Amino acid sequence: MSYDVIIVGLGAVGSATAYQLSSTTKKVLGIDQFEPPHTLGSSHGDTRITRQAIGEGSHYVPIVLRSHEIWRELELKVNTELFNQCGGLIFGTNLKNTPAHGSASFLDVTLAAANEFGIEHQVLECQEMQKQYPQFHYQGTEIGYFEPGAGFIRPEKCIEAQLKLAKQNGVELQLNKKVVSIEPNSSNDGVVVKTSTDTWEAECAIISAGAWVSEFLPESYKRFFKIYRQLLFWFEHELPYETFVGEQFPIFIRLGETAEDLLYGFPAIDGKNGGIKIGTEQYLDSCTADTIDRNVSADEIEQYFKRITQHLKVKNNCIKSAACLYTVTPDYGFVIDTMPEHPQILLASPCSGHGFKHSAAIGQILKELALNQKTDFDISAFSLSRFGE
Ligand SMILES: Cc1cc2nc3c(=O)[nH]c(=O)nc-3n(C[C@H](O)[C@H](O)[C@H](O)COP(=O)(O)OP(=O)(O)OC[C@H]3O[C@@H](n4cnc5c(N)ncnc54)[C@H](O)[C@@H]3O)c2cc1C
Repeated sequence: MSYDVIIVGLGAVGSATAYQLSSTTKKVLGIDQFEPPHTLGSSHGDTRITRQAIGEGSHYVPIVLRSHEIWRELELKVNTELFNQCGGLIFGTNLKNTPAHGSASFLDVTLAAANEFGIEHQVLECQEMQKQYPQFHYQGTEIGYFEPGAGFIRPEKCIEAQLKLAKQNGVELQLNKKVVSIEPNSSNDGVVVKTSTDTWEAECAIISAGAWVSEFLPESYKRFFKIYRQLLFWFEHELPYETFVGEQFPIFIRLGETAEDLLYGFPAIDGKNGGIKIGTEQYLDSCTADTIDRNVSADEIEQYFKRITQHLKVKNNCIKSAACLYTVTPDYGFVIDTMPEHPQILLASPCSGHGFKHSAAIGQILKELALNQKTDFDISAFSLSRFGE
């Protein structure tokens, strides 16, 4: 069977691409080894932070702003809230030394991006933060950035909505099918995609396989995509529930002196007994998508509680926990590129812990690249060749 485009992997990026391509007349097939949304990749856990001024670099700003427009468009189509613009507080003990996601001065870069793009924000001194956000413990030297246009997205609902609309618009979906190879055809102007039982051909393939991306890369590129297990916890709040909802409590990112000190969290969106979701990051122990330990142990909960409670007023009662996968490149940036020597095979790996907020527009970018070999977005920072070979 022959298609114009085959998308391998239907998580955040693949579902966005399927949705974007479904507005064209192209014959599109989307394949996933599971049934997205699922809890085995990088897109589960109820919420993802989104921000307008991007501390990973201002080149991400046009992509996130377009994504915000797409989430709003989608909300109207599926009549479901996907994007909650509850505001976002980013703070550190100083402006410059705030390492996160490959950016040495995440807070400073955020502020510069806000100024460059005219994004509404406020800079907060520690005293103001102590008054406005008593949910945190402060050292006294903190400086904060508040952005009213930041908030959170519902990852599972976004994937579900995009796949539903893509299917309604004629994209064919093959679920529970693991792709075992994506190869150029004999004349190198098309692709052959195989599972253990099926073979499909297309003019173009898009690899959006998340933490499994290495399975489709030449040997020399595999080392540029490392997989890290990351933990999420929902702890009971110490202060009254009302102080963790609405305008009282935006999404937050607390930056420390090393990348591993970073903590982020969300308002209490699951009611009085649902707890506060807090995310942590580690870049010391890598794993693979197939060998990751998906259980969070009691020891880990205890260890992270001790860390989190130094900064946020929560009780030692973990209501829920989850393990999730970051795909991390050497500079923590995205890869959106064609495969070496095979321009008909596109690769999109926007993880490194900050990809969901951009995924809707990355779907548009991949559509444009698949159909026209070019996009109006500046993706020059996302080349595969920047890592060498
Ligand atoms: C704990 C955690 C917190 C995060 N927080 C944020 C945040 O606050 N804000 C933010 O913007 N980003 C955040 N991110 C990053 C963001 O969630 C990811 O960048 C994004 O979800 C990655 O999407 P993806 O499409 O690349 O991968 P996925 O959504 O995992 O999709 C990959 C898909 O490919 C399929 N697949 C793989 N191999 C095959 C195969 N051989 N055959 C068929 N199908 C295959 C998989 O089954 C899967 O469905 C976070 C990530 C994690 C893990």
